[in-house]
Amino acid sequence: MSPQTRLRFAPSPTGALHLGNARTALFNYLAALRMGGTFIIRIEDTDRMRSDPRHETVLLADLAWLGITWQEGPDCGGPSAPYRQSERSVRYADILGQMRELGCIYPCFCTDGQLADDLEKQRRDRKTPRYSGRCARLSATESAGRLRAGEPAAWRWRVEGSGSLDWDDLVYGPQHQELGAIGDFVVCRRDGQPVFLLTNLVDDCEMRITHVLRGVDHLSNTGRQLLMARALSWGAPLYGHLPLLVNPGGIPLAKRDGAVGLGSLARAGYLPIAVQNYLVRLGHPYAENGLLDLEALSRSFDWNSIHRAPAVFDPAQLDHWQHLAVRALDDDAYTQWVTHALGSEAPVGLASLVRDNVRSHADLIQWRERLAGRSPPTEEAQAVLQTLDARLAAYGKAHANAVTLMDFLSGLRTDHPAAFPSRKVYPALRAILTGSLEGPELARIWDWMGPERRQQAFQNIRAQTQPTLSSAEHPA
Ligand code: GLU
Repeated sequence: MSPQTRLRFAPSPTGALHLGNARTALFNYLAALRMGGTFIIRIEDTDRMRSDPRHETVLLADLAWLGITWQEGPDCGGPSAPYRQSERSVRYADILGQMRELGCIYPCFCTDGQLADDLEKQRRDRKTPRYSGRCARLSATESAGRLRAGEPAAWRWRVEGSGSLDWDDLVYGPQHQELGAIGDFVVCRRDGQPVFLLTNLVDDCEMRITHVLRGVDHLSNTGRQLLMARALSWGAPLYGHLPLLVNPGGIPLAKRDGAVGLGSLARAGYLPIAVQNYLVRLGHPYAENGLLDLEALSRSFDWNSIHRAPAVFDPAQLDHWQHLAVRALDDDAYTQWVTHALGSEAPVGLASLVRDNVRSHADLIQWRERLAGRSPPTEEAQAVLQTLDARLAAYGKAHANAVTLMDFLSGLRTDHPAAFPSRKVYPALRAILTGSLEGPELARIWDWMGPERRQQAFQNIRAQTQPTLSSAEHPA
């Protein structure tokens, strides 16, 4: 498709990238990839109080970690530079000057108190709350005089006419807004700061952005943005809004939900491909159930398929993709992933032993501790250990050096015929050796542990359970 297709992700650097933002970035990126367009990063840091350059650095690193690449942005520049709103103030001042000259904005001297009283009155009269239009009615001479006298003023866009505004949202479909319901709105605050509605639109138009996918919380801004763009004959992008990502309690995911920040997932050992596959399927169906790379994900990406209902973040689903991703790692990448979690001192062979049983770095650490006898048994293992047949413990202490598990079991059956059916002895041995009833195949655990570690495990039988070992009257 047209090389002129341009999409962007425009985060505000007010915190770490949470999964909702990451999904928005990914959708824009996939759309750009699918259409052979350009993908741009723009930093919307006009909120000076909340923006922090350190967040910007982390944010870009998080996006790169996720596998997203951009052709234009604050770090690499490009034809529409600068890509940080804090460096574009001159542009906004210029635009505001043009708007003043065209008469589409006017100074508003209303104080906060007046505005609050107006709103209160409208509420009492059950009217739609909107600006009363007090300063729109001031004569040009009066306004100019008050400005000259240094009276602080915000600048409002004058909404004229009585028709309606209609447009198509790429995701939510036809949209309609009565002009009469839109009050004159602020484009520049009393302190001289242009507002988001303006800077965001100016940048999208100047950067020739063709499509915008963004959170549905911005749907209510779109009408006012299109109103300005149409009045000034600016080529505005096509907008598509993405339903919010909510936690299982139905609350929108926010930056403060640190646990689902991209950075914390990376630190926990989640793999980018797992996060990519999980995120794009949140509210966007894919026929393919396997792990796909970004190129393949982009081929089936279609904003018309995006669901309009909120997407629920489900950690179990994320873990499903992570499991597939760990399995799909080649040997070198898997070793690297393990080394990242355990350091280069990881016990030899541990990584391949537990390969099918780990999804996160925490799982790896847990298996290292379990196999070293350093972690307390799980509840289920504890239950098994509490009714352990003392004959098994005694046999184990004496024969932990049996070369294979099969040798050990056949010896046990010879010594105690019919006392230890497999359905009982397997969980019991797992509990003794690992403190868990799950994990790799028992025979492999046996081999990997070797006589010394096994000896140790039978010696300890997870020490805390010793006093409750049952006697021979309670077969295992
Ligand atoms: N800076 C806005 C945000 O982080 C982006 C708005 C947009 O994408 O148009 O929500």
